[in-house]
Amino acid sequence: MPTSHDPVEWQRFVLCETLALAVPMHMHELRRCDPNFLTEIASQAATTIGSHGDALQFGGKQCAPAFNALARGLAATALIAWGGVTFQGLHWCTVPHCPGPDGDHPQPVEPNPVPAAFTSPLNVRPIVDLNLPEPKNEEAAA
Ligand SMILES: [Zn+2]
Repeated sequence: MPTSHDPVEWQRFVLCETLALAVPMHMHELRRCDPNFLTEIASQAATTIGSHGDALQFGGKQCAPAFNALARGLAATALIAWGGVTFQGLHWCTVPHCPGPDGDHPQPVEPNPVPAAFTSPLNVRPIVDLNLPEPKNEEAAA
């Protein structure tokens, strides 16, 4: 907790405290997702933060979407980046009880295969051509 009345220091404190809660929650929610999907989440988060990141500092109606993008983007990155991710002195990664960015981060391994139904919120189904039998012409058979 800041000891001064500096508003910037208090903003940083609130941001870090809320990220300390939100990022692990997003990591838990995303923990079984496909790495390609996590990469897409991180990419979209970067776009949102690039467009509305100033709202995190100055407020406004884009503040909540920017915060959620930051938290979710950090979570997705922490799950796919070897060594995790560190932001404002906070560190998140997949190593249980990791002491921080200088902790031991073993070589990445192939993730467990996840059913495709759980890898995308769109739940995209494959398109398959089916060859149906010709309709029987009962008049021709008679
Ligand atoms: Zn770590």
